[in-house]
Amino acid sequence: MKGFIGARQTTLGSEISLTGTGVHSGAPVSIALCPADGDTGLRFLLSNGNADGTEIAADQRWVTGVTLCTVLGDGNGASVATVEHLLAALRGLGVDNALIEIDSSEVPIMDGSASRFVEAIDEVGLAELDSPRRFLKVLKKIRVEDGGAFGELTPHNGFHLDVEIDFDTPLIGTQRIDIDINPGSFRRELARARTFGFMKDVAKLWSAGYALGASFANTLVVTEDRVLNPEGLRFADEFVRHKILDAIGDLALAGQPLLAAYRTIRGGHKLNHAVLSALMADPSAWRVVEASEPARRTRGHADVGAGLAAAAYGPEMS
Ligand SMILES: [Zn+2]
Repeated sequence: MKGFIGARQTTLGSEISLTGTGVHSGAPVSIALCPADGDTGLRFLLSNGNADGTEIAADQRWVTGVTLCTVLGDGNGASVATVEHLLAALRGLGVDNALIEIDSSEVPIMDGSASRFVEAIDEVGLAELDSPRRFLKVLKKIRVEDGGAFGELTPHNGFHLDVEIDFDTPLIGTQRIDIDINPGSFRRELARARTFGFMKDVAKLWSAGYALGASFANTLVVTEDRVLNPEGLRFADEFVRHKILDAIGDLALAGQPLLAAYRTIRGGHKLNHAVLSALMADPSAWRVVEASEPARRTRGHADVGAGLAAAAYGPEMS
C-alpha cells in the first residue's frame, strides 16, 4: 500500500538508486537508498575511499557543519554534506528506517528541491515493519535566539511548522507559511520548492569553495527584484517553502519523528540545529512515546495514543 503511514515503523519498499551532482562540491555522486530493519533509523553509509564504509546516523549529535547546508561527520574525517533535502523527503513521507549508501561526500542536489527523492520513494512505496513507531514528544518550550532570528519548539500533538523569512529585497520580502506536516501536505506544498541564492553572492561563494555545482538546473538564482531562471518560480512564495523543507530535514536529525510545533523567523540550518541541540540537551524537555495500534485508539491513552500518530502521520494514499 503505497504511502500508508500508521502506528508501525516503515522502510522503503525496495532499493532506490540515484545519481547527480553535489551543489557545493560540484562532484558527481551516486546514492542508493536501501530498506532497513525497524529501529535502524536513517543512516548514511559512506563508501568513498573506504572499502568497509563508514556509517553515520542522521542524528544531531553528528552535525559538524551548518554553513549553507547541514553536514554530518564521524569526527575522523568522514563526512556527508547537504543532507537536508533527502532527509526532509524521507521524514516528510514517513520513512522511519533507511540506509543511504553514498560514494561521495555530498548528497546530490538533483533539481534543488526534494522532488526527485519523493518521486523515487513513491515509485517503490513503503513497507510496514513490526516495530511500533516511536515519536520524540516535545514536553516544554525550547527557544533559541540569534540576533533578530529565533527558533522555538513547543508541545503539539502532530508536527506543525510556522516559518517566516524576511529579506530586504522586493522579490522576496517577508514570506510566512504555517502548515501541518504530513505526507500529503509535504508532497503538495513543500517537496518541489527549490534552493535559492543571490547572483551577487556567487563569486564570493565560489572563491570560498561553495556552490561549485550550482546552476539554473538546481538553484533559483535571484537578483534584488527578479528570478534569473528562465522558467521562473514554481510557487510565488517558493523561497519560504524551501526554508520549511530545510527545517524538516534539519529536524529529522532528532532521530525520530517529532511531536512538536516549530516556529522560526529569519532562521536557517544553524538555528534549526541550535534549537534541536538545546532540546536534546534537556532531558526534561522531551520523551519518546510509542504509537499504539489502531484497535487500541478508542481507549484514549491521553498521552501516547495512536491519535498522535494519526494527527502527525495519518493514513495517506496517493
Ligand atoms: Zn535547502
